[in-house]
Amino acid sequence: MSILVVGGAGYIGSHMVKLLAGSGADVITLDNLSRGYRDAVKYGEFIQGDLGDPAVLDDVFINNQIEVVMHFAAFIEVGESVTYPARYYHNNFTNTQTLLDAMLRHDVGYFIFSSTAAIFGEPDYTPIDEKHRKLPINPYGHSKLMVEQLLSDYDKAYGLRSACLRYFNAAGADPDGDLGERHDPETHLIPLVLQAASGRREDIKVFGNDYPTDDGTCVRDYIHINDLCDAHLLALERIQKTDSSAQYNLGNGKGFSVKQVIDAAREVTGKDFKVTQDERRPGDPAVLVADAKLAKKELGWRPEYADLESIIETAWNWEINFLCKKSSDKEQG
Ligand code: UDP
Repeated sequence: MSILVVGGAGYIGSHMVKLLAGSGADVITLDNLSRGYRDAVKYGEFIQGDLGDPAVLDDVFINNQIEVVMHFAAFIEVGESVTYPARYYHNNFTNTQTLLDAMLRHDVGYFIFSSTAAIFGEPDYTPIDEKHRKLPINPYGHSKLMVEQLLSDYDKAYGLRSACLRYFNAAGADPDGDLGERHDPETHLIPLVLQAASGRREDIKVFGNDYPTDDGTCVRDYIHINDLCDAHLLALERIQKTDSSAQYNLGNGKGFSVKQVIDAAREVTGKDFKVTQDERRPGDPAVLVADAKLAKKELGWRPEYADLESIIETAWNWEINFLCKKSSDKEQG
């Protein structure tokens, strides 16, 4: 079976490619390298191309026996989506429709979609299950929810079976140390905290300390990248077996505050670093925690990295053994 991984050169996509290759699948990555890295694609065939280009997609589907598409090629910054909504609707929605229409032309019947907790907006209750009302508060969340709607309609009209996987906070790195998170610029909490710990960053800024949480800082549900990827494989098996589409919230079901993440990072790294109090970041809900019971029940999904320390440990390994070396190579010219 050939699986096309769109966005396989990015953070989550590259880990997925590794998992698929290890499970014996024939993997092909399509990525335009606008935000990904060629050297992150360590398995299978690599095609550099744009998912928004129907001719590129026709070529890929004509030349390969693809049965499944997994789609990770999205823009993910909430703040950027508010400033540049056109970019988000175009890449995350319009280009995804172009990809789905190409799948229909070439009779590819299964689609796994990277969705997000941002489709829920400000939560009415927590933990958030699949039934929670969906009211995004930024263009990023809207662009993802629009794809979910499209997928529901394409399922009914064209029989395209899909799984929408709503990630909470993807974190950590490949435990073998081959892959990790490499956003530029980096905006996510765990990699930034670890940059402070390794000395690549002067301090870590805490965005807001007056939220209605125990210590006043925002609470998030951090889920290890390998656990997330496992859920994709299980979701694929499920939609193939049941011949129906599905949606799952993916998280550990346990929230950690920004302060708790910083304390855990101090513990894991044995380093102290400067913490600076800063303003709230616009668009941040106080608490986002997943209720992932449905994924556990229907998929038999069992996250292995349920504790924050082991997630941070893998990310720390990547920070010191890959990112620090890359940045010192760069400095030495
Ligand atoms: N955060 C922070 N300082 C940073 C980056 C993030 O305090 O330098 C906070 C952010 O406000 C949020 C949490 O850490 O409450 C997780 O943010 P991240 O960007 O990692 O993921 P998000 O929850 O936005 O998807």
